[in-house]
Amino acid sequence: MAEEKANLLGMPRAALGSFFAKIGEKPYRADQVMRWIYRGKVTDIDAMTNISRSLRGHLKEIAEIRVPAFSAGTRSSDGVVKWLAHTEHGQAVETVLIPDAGAAYDGATEGGAPHRRNTLCISSQVGCALDCSFCATGKQGFNGNLTRAEIVGQVWQAGRELADRGDERGITNVVFMGMGEPLLNFQPVLDAADVLMDDLAFGISKRRVTISTAGVVPRIRDLASHTDVSLAVSLHAPRDELRNVLVPLNRKYPIAEVLDACRHYLRGLGERRSITMEYTLIDGVNDSVVDARDLAHLLTGLRTKVNLIPFNPFPEDRNGYRRPSPARIDRFQTSLLNAGVATMLRTTRGDEIGAACGQLTGTVHDRTQRRTRYLARERVSLETRSVP
Ligand code: SF4
Repeated sequence: MAEEKANLLGMPRAALGSFFAKIGEKPYRADQVMRWIYRGKVTDIDAMTNISRSLRGHLKEIAEIRVPAFSAGTRSSDGVVKWLAHTEHGQAVETVLIPDAGAAYDGATEGGAPHRRNTLCISSQVGCALDCSFCATGKQGFNGNLTRAEIVGQVWQAGRELADRGDERGITNVVFMGMGEPLLNFQPVLDAADVLMDDLAFGISKRRVTISTAGVVPRIRDLASHTDVSLAVSLHAPRDELRNVLVPLNRKYPIAEVLDACRHYLRGLGERRSITMEYTLIDGVNDSVVDARDLAHLLTGLRTKVNLIPFNPFPEDRNGYRRPSPARIDRFQTSLLNAGVATMLRTTRGDEIGAACGQLTGTVHDRTQRRTRYLARERVSLETRSVP
C-alpha cells in the first residue's frame, strides 16, 4: 500500500526542519516552504519557484499541502461570518470570524477609522466529550480530534477569504473557543499555536492566541512547560455543587484544583498578564448577587479578569435556560467591579446565524451516542405531553 503523503500544513518550523533533514536537505528549506504556504497561500509545490525542480519533484512524491475545504460563509448582519470546515473523515466543524464591532467584513472602514481586530474562533475537536449543560457543541456528541493541519487550516482559509476581500489585516487574534476542548487534543493544539505565532507563518503575538479550557488540570500544568499563550478558563460558577451541573468535568477537577493550576500557569506569564475567566450568565442559575460575591471572593489574589457572556439559546437546550435581563446582567457586573474584579461584558455577536458562544454544532458523527440519547429523551417527553 502506498504510504500516505506528509501534510506540510500545520507543521511547526522545527518539525519541518527535521522533515527536510531526513531527506538530506538543509533546514532553511523549512523557512522557504513556510513562506510559500502561509505568506504566499500556495498549496501547489510546483509553484515554489525558489526550490529546485528536482527537489520539488521529490517533495511531490512524499508530501503535499492539504487544506480543509471551507463551505461558503454565512454572514450575520453584525459582521460575524461562520464557515463549516470539512475534515478528512467526512465531518465538519465550525469556524467563526468576529471582526471588531462596526468593522465590515469586506475590509471597509467605519467612520474613517480602519478596524483593528479580526478575531477568529477555531475548533479543535469534532464535537466535544465534555457536555457542558449550556453548550450546543456538547449536545452533538463527540467523534475525535482534529489534526494540526485541520486546526491551522481554519486560520489559513479564513485568512485567504479576508485577503480575497481586500482586508489586509488578515487574522489578528485567534481563540481556541470553537468546538471541542483544546487541552484534550494537546499536541496538535500546541503545534498549531506554534505555527500561529511563527513569524514565517501568521506571526500572531502570544497575547493574541488564546487557548480556552473547561479546566483539564493536568494539561494546564503541562501547558505551562510548553508555552505562554493566553489562557482562558470556562469557570461559569463560583461553587462546586453548581459547577458540577454546568461543567460536568468539575466532578473530576473541582474549582480549587483548577485555580491551583491557574496559579501555576500564571507563574510563567509576565506580571502584567492575567488569565481570563469565562462566565456564562444564565438567568436564575448563576447570576445572583450572592454568586457575584462568591466569585469575587474566589478570585481574590489571582491575576484574572472575568469575561461575562450572556447565555445564548440553542435548539437542543433541554434545561430551559434563558439569558438574564440587562438589569440582572448589569447588577452582576457591578457587584464584581465594586469588589475590585476586572470584568468585561462580551457583546453578543453572530447569534442570528448560530455563531455566538456556545452555539456551534457542525456535522458530527457521534461516537458517544449522546445525541441519540438526547433525541430519544425528547421523543419520550413529546409523546408524554401529547397523551390526552
Ligand atoms: S463549553 Fe467547551 S468544553 Fe464545554 S461542551 Fe462546549 S465545547 Fe465542550
